[in-house]
Amino acid sequence: MARYTGALCRQCRREQIKLFLKGDRCYSDKCAFERRSYAPGQHGQMNMRMRKMSDYAMQLREKQKVRRMYGMLEGQFHRYFVKADRLKGVTGENLLVLLERRLDNVIYRLGFAASRNQARQLLRHNHFMINGKKVNIPSYQVAVNDEITVKEKSRKVESINDSLSAVVRRGVPGWLKLEQDNFKGTVQAMPNREEITMPIQENLIVELYSK
Ligand code: SF4
Repeated sequence: MARYTGALCRQCRREQIKLFLKGDRCYSDKCAFERRSYAPGQHGQMNMRMRKMSDYAMQLREKQKVRRMYGMLEGQFHRYFVKADRLKGVTGENLLVLLERRLDNVIYRLGFAASRNQARQLLRHNHFMINGKKVNIPSYQVAVNDEITVKEKSRKVESINDSLSAVVRRGVPGWLKLEQDNFKGTVQAMPNREEITMPIQENLIVELYSK
């Protein structure tokens, strides 16, 4: 699957928010956003002071922020919106729930990976099973009662163990249950909007795509 491979910290500075794209580094004083919280580029600092954003610019930035948070390219992200729009309920919330249900996100949320990027990498290397079967597709949508386990022979992988030992700092959302000693996570329920705590104004994304 195609993916963005440019400088990750630059994306946080562009969106003016920590997107937590680099695992442990994001929680350390090496975080580029903590050091330079203005937009990248020659006019980054000046732009921050002078800029009053139009409605369109705000909608665009919100979409870019969420798209980058979940590590997706434009076409793929738009397809999620189309799918969310076809579902019953509030389109913006549907969109966030679909994004949260991605397997790469679930692996990150359970603490088996330090970032969604790393989760995708680990998935491609076939370290996980769902309900006892090998699954290596980052976009796989988890369902209630799915059990995600680290394969027996992968339980010594350093990055998985490092991430698990740091999961306390991030916490596991209530719709997921982690059994750390068993290298196992269970989907207890579908995520609801209140459990998606990142500062996201999904209505702006809906407005942008509904033009
Ligand atoms: Fe963003 Fe993490 Fe880089 Fe900080 S370290 S700027 S949170 S990707």
